[in-house]
Amino acid sequence: MLELQSVHVSISGISILRDISFRAGQSETIALVGHNGAGKTTTLRTIMGFTQTRGSVTFEGRDLIKVAPHDRPGLGIGYAPEDRRLFSGFTVEENILLPARIAGLSPSETAKRRDRAYSVLPELKTLAPRPAGSVSGGQGKMVALGRALMSATRLLLLDEPFQGLAPVLANTYAAALRRLHELAPEISVIITESNPELLERFANRVITMERGAIASDRIVQQGAAQTPA
Ligand code: ATP
Repeated sequence: MLELQSVHVSISGISILRDISFRAGQSETIALVGHNGAGKTTTLRTIMGFTQTRGSVTFEGRDLIKVAPHDRPGLGIGYAPEDRRLFSGFTVEENILLPARIAGLSPSETAKRRDRAYSVLPELKTLAPRPAGSVSGGQGKMVALGRALMSATRLLLLDEPFQGLAPVLANTYAAALRRLHELAPEISVIITESNPELLERFANRVITMERGAIASDRIVQQGAAQTPA
């Protein structure tokens, strides 16, 4: 469904991503792991259209490079950036609903997606009326997940969601990911993380990045690791 082929990204003349190629199939949960600076965030930003990209990025047969960044969520792609980027003067629910407003979804579709986000993460309902500026950093990660779920009917990109989360919130987040997989198994998920062990519990595949390139790509199911065909 998503395919990157020979993707190169340079920023200010410095090569950040080098020859990245991988394919994400429907229903996959891919852990994109690697040390700080390996290129994980830049890979997600490239899928969202926020980088100058050489190479090919296709999504469900469509050339994504020709799709403007603000139109990509409308294709069913949700993105929760590491730094959350919430509008602090809006309530939590207003932040969550924003992608639906931007995409011009009907009230019934908006309500359907909001209810799905609340089913995945019931904790959001309690936070909904609060100003987004008043929630903790960890709760803000939940809000960013809820907002990404409003767009993610096909693909969900999560940038280091567990980074800095207190254990209780990390468990809440992990439970939400499991619930999402039960409620909407058709959605593919790509999660970045610097600690690979944390994600091997959810992921069926682990792609390891080193210095802007892919170092390994392994399927991890029932403890067996193999290289994808
Ligand atoms: P982290 O866990 O630290 O976020 P990462 O694997 O997500 O690491 P990236 O954020 O993709 O890595 O960064 C890859 C490299 O590109 C790093 O060396 C980073 O400093 C550099 N880089 C990323 N964005 C920019 C930018 N806008 N300008 C300059 N350098 C950048």
